Amino acid sequence: MDYLNAGLDLVQSRLAWVATDPFDWKLYLQLTSWGVCLFESYLLLRQFPLYSKTEPPPVLKDHFKEEVFKKSQAYGKDKAKFSLLAGFYKQIVDSIFIHFGMVAWSWKAGGWIVGKFGYGPEYEITQSIAFAFTLFFLSSLPSLPLSIYQTFVLEEKHGFNKMTPQLFVTDLLKSWAVGFVIGAPFLAGFLAIFKWAGSRFVPWLMAFLLIFQMSMVVLYPTVIQPLFNKLSPLPEGDLRSRIEALASKLKFPLKHLYEIDGSKRSSHSNAYFFGLPWSKHIVIFDTLIKQSKSEEVEAVLAHELGHWYYMHPTKLLSVSQLHIFSILALFPAFLRAPPLLRAFDFPPQVAAKPPTIVAFLLYQMLLTPLEAVVGILMNAVSRKFEYEADRFACELQNKLGDSKMADMGDRLGRALTALHVENLSTVWVDWLYSAYHHSHPTLTERLRALEGYKAAAAAEKTAVEKKEL
Ligand SMILES: [Zn+2]
Repeated sequence: MDYLNAGLDLVQSRLAWVATDPFDWKLYLQLTSWGVCLFESYLLLRQFPLYSKTEPPPVLKDHFKEEVFKKSQAYGKDKAKFSLLAGFYKQIVDSIFIHFGMVAWSWKAGGWIVGKFGYGPEYEITQSIAFAFTLFFLSSLPSLPLSIYQTFVLEEKHGFNKMTPQLFVTDLLKSWAVGFVIGAPFLAGFLAIFKWAGSRFVPWLMAFLLIFQMSMVVLYPTVIQPLFNKLSPLPEGDLRSRIEALASKLKFPLKHLYEIDGSKRSSHSNAYFFGLPWSKHIVIFDTLIKQSKSEEVEAVLAHELGHWYYMHPTKLLSVSQLHIFSILALFPAFLRAPPLLRAFDFPPQVAAKPPTIVAFLLYQMLLTPLEAVVGILMNAVSRKFEYEADRFACELQNKLGDSKMADMGDRLGRALTALHVENLSTVWVDWLYSAYHHSHPTLTERLRALEGYKAAAAAEKTAVEKKEL
């Protein structure tokens, strides 16, 4: 712990100027956030011409009927146009908000709200919660028309929207309510730790965040998701027995197997697992079950169990802890920095003793361009994991010594292609666009890799059989 604190102190002394020297942080934020926005637009412009191609890549030629390919290109083009315009719109709104000091204004509004309830500025945590929700509402309202357009015009036009206006409104209200019920105590705990631990908050806060993440793993599926979707046990039958058999052969601690009514909102489909190490739940979208044969859904689950087998979620959690640690380690320099608050239009009396939540939020905003880079790295890790899980499915025949699984790679390929076709997912993808935005390799890349894994698994099988002879 002493070693850790010494290291943190060194970082702190290097950044000591932040607390004393005036710097135009607002200009820095405007320039860097516009930089990210322009880069994202550039990526869309790289991707855009690919939507005019008239033929799918050779590997996919047999799977895409001309009609479906045309539809997928049209859908992609519409989505890209929307993303380009929405990106600029959001950036302009954010830019105006920053220019006119919206963060400072929200802090004042938070103080006014809690004042109405008889709490003065000495109640920093209470005012912080009021501030955070004011700021959240102000910044999310302008993008509401965008999500309405996306759901009821764009997705509707291409036949994906299953949402009714009523469901849209209740979803929104529910998500705000859930945000408040979870967010307020979370924020209070977060700020209380700062108050209590003083300048040595890093390890304590990390422990707090980890406990919070773990409790969300339990709470999300059991309490939150049922507010939005219906999870029902997967009925007895071929699919259920296949998945149960697979889970038990791999010693996957399967507790519950659910079907989720994903089709209530959209016909995009998927499957996933979650839970604590000793008790896992698998959830399959009803749309996936409808679109694919049970042996293909089994292959999708084999891929998912590959993620579990190689402990991908745990590895991703460790990477995210490292990420959180670096963010927190640099934060003390920004925690008591009056020039930072002055740069964002806070009055001198507030800036003199910066509220923790304000300092943290401004600090987070300054990290935007760095977060974009972190996102690219996280995508690279995630893609590597996707390939590993695909290979796992192909190797199951040897791992479990089950020749009925010899065609697992083919089945997975068919399921992935069917999902892709049903979702009208983009077929031609620019490599830079994909590196920035996608956590999964493209379908073409995955099918090509699957061919290699299948061949390797078959060769291994022959080698083993020869030895046995
Ligand atoms: Zn995966």
